Amino acid sequence: MWQTIGHAWASAYLQKTIETGRVAQATLITGPAEIGKTHLALECAAALQCRAEAGRPCGVCPDCLASLAGSHADLLLIEPDNGRIKIDQVRQIQHELALRPYVGRWRVCIVTGFETTTTEAANALLKLLEEPPAHAVLLLTALDPGLLLPTIVSRCRVLPLRPVPTQEIAQALVERYGAEPSQAQEIAQLSAGRVGWAIRACQDPALLEQHEADVQMLLELMPQGYAARLNAAEELAKRADVRTAVFEWQIVWRDMMLLAAGCQEHLIVNQKQLPRLRRLAKGIDLAQARAAAWRAQEVIGQIAQNVNPRLALETMLLSWQPN
Ligand SMILES: [Zn+2]
Repeated sequence: MWQTIGHAWASAYLQKTIETGRVAQATLITGPAEIGKTHLALECAAALQCRAEAGRPCGVCPDCLASLAGSHADLLLIEPDNGRIKIDQVRQIQHELALRPYVGRWRVCIVTGFETTTTEAANALLKLLEEPPAHAVLLLTALDPGLLLPTIVSRCRVLPLRPVPTQEIAQALVERYGAEPSQAQEIAQLSAGRVGWAIRACQDPALLEQHEADVQMLLELMPQGYAARLNAAEELAKRADVRTAVFEWQIVWRDMMLLAAGCQEHLIVNQKQLPRLRRLAKGIDLAQARAAAWRAQEVIGQIAQNVNPRLALETMLLSWQPN
């Protein structure tokens, strides 16, 4: 029984490929940060190794437990090292996947944040994707296939994950994390589909305060001139969670798009800021708001790919018209 919150179509699809013996040797799971890509990849690794007769992953056998914890003897979990996936890590993947499974059926490698891969490392991995060992399964996660080499994407089965619906997240927060229903609803709404963020916010109220502060920062910046924006870019660029802050801004712009398009207001994520958003949206048309949201998404990808964050933020903030 798959436990990943949301993405039922993707887990059903992966399970079917395992049950019917049509396991893809390379799968690329894409989608915004914290929507559950890594969790889905870990569950897929568990399902591949699970010893249960049926209903894999069972979630309780030693192979499932070790896979889900990322510590299975036949699982290699590779994460960006200092913000990048490097050539040494790809060499390690090549070496490890060439070995026969120790205890399981497959040798599985999960690579997270694949959009951060250096060109040299991506080219090395391409060779592996062209001729993978018969017992090897590679699961890559990335923000967006557009940030990867097209030759890598074309050799993978791509599973594009979408933000998880608010109700599904709220229900999971109540049932699995013991949240109060009203608190779960508020967090789920603010998460804008990011399951991982919602779970963290449930456990750490400081995250909600930071969210509030980031939204406030954007709303206060909007009427300001260039000097204030350049200062804001400098301060924001120093933060380790800069991509999360830009994502919150992307959602504010999405809210303004909805308001500019005359959509129903219950769809707005930042309900607490509704009066202020309404005022701002009056001075903005749909195309401007859409362009600003798109620009924020682009900057998230650029920062992941090691573009100087301050420069990327400055360009973004200066492209937004004072309002
Ligand atoms: Zn199992």
